[in-house]
Amino acid sequence: MYRINNNYLKLENNYLFSKIAEEKQNYLRNNPEKELIDLSIGDVTLPLVSSVQKGIKNGLELLSCNSTFSGYPPASGHDFLKNKILNVDYKNIPIDLDELFISDSSKGDITHILDILDNNLNVAIQDPVYPVYVDSNIIRGNNIIFYDSIEEIIEKKLDVDIIYICNPNNPTGKLLPRETLEKIVSYALNYNILIFYDSAYEAFIQDKNAIHSIYEIKDAKKVAIEFRSFSKTAGYTPLRLAYTIVPKEISNLNILFKRLKSTKYNGPSYLSEYGIYSVYKDNNLHELKENISYYLKNTQILNDYFYFKGMTNEKEVNSPYVWINVKNDSWDYFYYLLNNFGIVCTPGSGFGKNGKTYIRLTGFNTFENTLKAIDILKKDLK
Ligand code: PLP
Repeated sequence: MYRINNNYLKLENNYLFSKIAEEKQNYLRNNPEKELIDLSIGDVTLPLVSSVQKGIKNGLELLSCNSTFSGYPPASGHDFLKNKILNVDYKNIPIDLDELFISDSSKGDITHILDILDNNLNVAIQDPVYPVYVDSNIIRGNNIIFYDSIEEIIEKKLDVDIIYICNPNNPTGKLLPRETLEKIVSYALNYNILIFYDSAYEAFIQDKNAIHSIYEIKDAKKVAIEFRSFSKTAGYTPLRLAYTIVPKEISNLNILFKRLKSTKYNGPSYLSEYGIYSVYKDNNLHELKENISYYLKNTQILNDYFYFKGMTNEKEVNSPYVWINVKNDSWDYFYYLLNNFGIVCTPGSGFGKNGKTYIRLTGFNTFENTLKAIDILKKDLK
């Protein structure tokens, strides 16, 4: 008889986004004359930039011709794109071609990489954070130790096998300074701990002193695996593309990850790759930066307002998110914003216990709607 993986039954029902969508629909049904501004969006909204469009058309032409058609891509992506990523994103950091794995998603890489590690590991995960880290470890039967701030790992000398770092963090938007990351890398080196470094929002970093890759820190290649995604960086959520760096210095993980890729995947979509390749090839990264600046401007407008009200700690934004201390239950505040102002937020409790009295807003709506939301709030937010 078949048996299921009982760990799946331990997963909490993730009703966060479906509940938000349902409440939005209810509001619109009950208030057909009213406008609703959705600041809960955790997805890009601007259309594909022109060099991506051009690249996809080029790729399609190549696939449509006998002499240039190619079938399955290599399991870790094509070298034409790998070379560009290494020469541009890792210009001053020595990474070998076979340490870079292009895939269709960071979510996939972050969850599947656990396959090559043993079960029952002790993993340190921040609260609040991107819920995928938690769920994927529950599925594997790992023991999760939540930390409030990364310094706590060192102060309490947490005995863990893996440390998850999301930098800049989703949902708090918080950016870790180089010194903190140096300390954590050194701790990981001392105690033989693996670091999973997720920098899905790296392209949003504004702080000139901040590091963009964990490998800017000495010896990080001995302990850290880095995940990056084109989803928010290049507006690629509908196309899908991401990459992961697994250094050869970390025991045999690079070889095992290669094995995992060749066993379970047949590589990323050629057209998705070609779209991004075209951006790098034609030196059009500025097109991506323009979209990111647009989202960041919206985020900064929201942040300025809540900073002025003493409800956020960060003055400058380094991500598309604003994490707001509402000093009330986050779902109660969700209904307060929705019913009194027609504004939709994401209740922080969906990201962990520490999010219980916070909400998350994003800069992914339009500039006009973001300004409109602030005008509405200014009138009488408590
Ligand atoms: N990592 C973080 C922190 C995210 O917020 C997200 C998406 O929201 C991802 C990874 C997923 O990336 P991808 O779209 O490449 O699966």
